[in-house]
Amino acid sequence: MHQNKYIPVAEPNLSGNEKKYLDECIKTGWISSKGKFINEFETGFAKYIGTKYALSSSNGTTALHLAFAGLGLTKGDEVIVPDFTFIASANAITYTGAKPIFADVEMTTWNIDPLEVEKKISKRTKVILVVHIYGHPAQMEKIIKIANKYKLFIVEDSAESLGSEINLNGWKRLGSIGKVGTFSFFGNKTITTGEGGMVVTNSKELYEKMKIFRDHGQDPKKRYFYNVVGFNYRLTNLQAAIGLAQLEKINGFVQKKKAIGKEYNKLLKNIPGITLPPSQSWGRSSYWMYSILVDKPYSLTRDDLIEILAKESIESRPFFYPIHNLPIYKEEGSFNNSTYLHKHGLSLPSSVNLSSKDIKRIASILNSYDK
Ligand SMILES: *Cc1c(COP(=O)(O)O)cnc(C)c1O
Repeated sequence: MHQNKYIPVAEPNLSGNEKKYLDECIKTGWISSKGKFINEFETGFAKYIGTKYALSSSNGTTALHLAFAGLGLTKGDEVIVPDFTFIASANAITYTGAKPIFADVEMTTWNIDPLEVEKKISKRTKVILVVHIYGHPAQMEKIIKIANKYKLFIVEDSAESLGSEINLNGWKRLGSIGKVGTFSFFGNKTITTGEGGMVVTNSKELYEKMKIFRDHGQDPKKRYFYNVVGFNYRLTNLQAAIGLAQLEKINGFVQKKKAIGKEYNKLLKNIPGITLPPSQSWGRSSYWMYSILVDKPYSLTRDDLIEILAKESIESRPFFYPIHNLPIYKEEGSFNNSTYLHKHGLSLPSSVNLSSKDIKRIASILNSYDK
């Protein structure tokens, strides 16, 4: 019997120098967290994002934790974070003893709503954690104004937005706008190292602090002497070898993601009840995960559509739960948009390995239920 090819939501593309660089690690014995690939990966990454410094870490969650530890967050502090994000954004705040305060998102970007941010500011607020979800930038111009007014740091969780840009008197890469930006190189991200992460900043002082925290808290001038309780959050040279090979291909990956977004948009734009992903003139989404909303008058619910796609060997994913409603982070308040997105959102296959034929097959299934 004919079986359709399985199409995952995401899969890595390791067709460049990954194997060659890994072989070099094994031949030379540099397989732990020192070695030339770490330096080359960090330097190349900083250059790509447009910041002075980049510091690799063991994953995107530890990158966030390093950012918050470096900024000195502690018990009694508060961080404003979008209610609609991956759980790591909130957990990394909690690790420091600080409290995440959730703000609803806006429907035009699916990102943190600047008006909600301002409502949630208190005397304890230290940081606004912006998350650029699925590849589309948040409204940084307004958030920068709020941060300046209340003297708050901006941290950009850019795990989902590597290669995305925003126009702030010229186009800038996401992650380079706030005091510090963080990235993830998990297997489904735009570039991958298996597990891995990066923090970027223009502040030498913050970079050095985060580096100390990453390396057990060791005093850089005194071996086995510690002034802070640090962590071991290092990336290995093996992972950085893969990362460097991935970084060599990043322009092609981002271009391909944008082309996938464009093709889906063209094929899905005339279906009543299907909402296309956010697209604002001041932003350039990298379409990390091509995501839509499914609501009436479309003939299927989001959950029915997931099942129908699964029967055709096509993986799709529902959106995150609104975090304020998870038992571990219960918070009262008005979160209409994050609640709506959770109920109606769906991510479609978005890997750079997708063919135009794959996209057409997926879109034709969605179109066939337009009645
Ligand atoms: C992937 C991701 C992270 C970090 O994930 P890790 O699996 O720890 O690398 C953080 N925030 C967001 C929004 C993410 O999508």
